[in-house]
Amino acid sequence: MDADYHAHTTYSDGSPLPEMCRAAEAAGLDAIGFTDHCIVVDDEFGRRERYDLVETYERRREAIERVRARTALTVYDAAEVSYVEDAESETAAVLDAAAFDYTIGSVHFAGEYDYTTAAPYADASESDRRAAVERYYDAVVAAAESELFDVLGHLDLPERMEALRGHSRRSDYERVAAALADSATVPEINAGRVHRSLGRVHPDPAMLDAFREHDVAFVLGSDSHSPAEIERRVPALREVVEDRDVALAEFEPTPLGR
Ligand SMILES: [Zn+2]
Ligand SMILES: [Zn+2]
Repeated sequence: MDADYHAHTTYSDGSPLPEMCRAAEAAGLDAIGFTDHCIVVDDEFGRRERYDLVETYERRREAIERVRARTALTVYDAAEVSYVEDAESETAAVLDAAAFDYTIGSVHFAGEYDYTTAAPYADASESDRRAAVERYYDAVVAAAESELFDVLGHLDLPERMEALRGHSRRSDYERVAAALADSATVPEINAGRVHRSLGRVHPDPAMLDAFREHDVAFVLGSDSHSPAEIERRVPALREVVEDRDVALAEFEPTPLGR
């Protein structure tokens, strides 16, 4: 592996750009993609105020230019965009204007469900938990079909939460794989929870053959928020690629301004 396509800086909930670049160099990467959170429309979970790359991407672009001048790495000016089903045209307009090198589309919430916090599911019944998970995959399929994004982020996010873990089914992975096979969007192997609660990458390595059957290849993303995470997660990603014989997509965007 020579590119990590998913990392966060202080322009959302991550660490300073120069520190992240140094860690990427030390990890032996050739390229790093900075994908700060980009919340195009207000959502009921109030994240837009904290992660407003819509307002700050121009400033971040200048900061990225400064680190590019000091590193041999290819540095991508990219974004992790929350996918909102009924805001596709607004999202497209923002992405057109911002002209990121590439975008990751991530389902963090869908309908009434928030998949970033476990609290709402603690007292939910089994069938309610399954309904929440099924709804998640509906949104993932819609995100692939929207063709709004280059990459689809952390494919089985609900598995991060203990209350929802084990509620993803083979049939969910299969319909996502089928949608991706018909889409230009490429999924990522995401190491965001490899050393934390989940203890594995997204998506479930046991389900990778569902993607293989559809000839779906992946890009790699550490989802690091700190230099220490790059240091630990990049080797973990390399290990998964090797152990699981992951098919890597030909994905090499041209960085803006180069
Ligand atoms: Zn995410
Ligand atoms: Zn992320």
